[in-house]
Amino acid sequence: MVKIITVKSSSREEFIDITGEVEKALKEAGVKKGICYLYVPHTTAGITINEGADPSVKKDIINALKKIAPYGAGYSHMEGNADSHIKTTLVGSSVNIFIEGGRLILGQWQSIFFCEFDGPRTRKVFMKIIKEEE
Ligand code: ZN
Repeated sequence: MVKIITVKSSSREEFIDITGEVEKALKEAGVKKGICYLYVPHTTAGITINEGADPSVKKDIINALKKIAPYGAGYSHMEGNADSHIKTTLVGSSVNIFIEGGRLILGQWQSIFFCEFDGPRTRKVFMKIIKEEE
């Protein structure tokens, strides 16, 4: 079964910490051990895991991506969001996290970020939990 987590972004480019939402969904599923797959079904938004403790880290990542793929830099794609597509490919569309003792096994400073590159929009994250047989 796939659970859908709805994410509402409020600006064009934004990293939204969804760790709490994923943990809540994991608790509801009641799985103690396994793998949590998170997949973003969009072409201008992605997902990544990085530092959640210091908010300047996500700001620096967004600014670095803007330097790699600046807005309106003479792209072929005529929709005006070619930079959003490129940034999405750079961060990727999925992450996998191990589950032990009913909890996500993340590093001390890690958070799961939904990465908006063409907001504001209402978006989806697909979540699938694979239970490990004991
Ligand atoms: Zn486009």
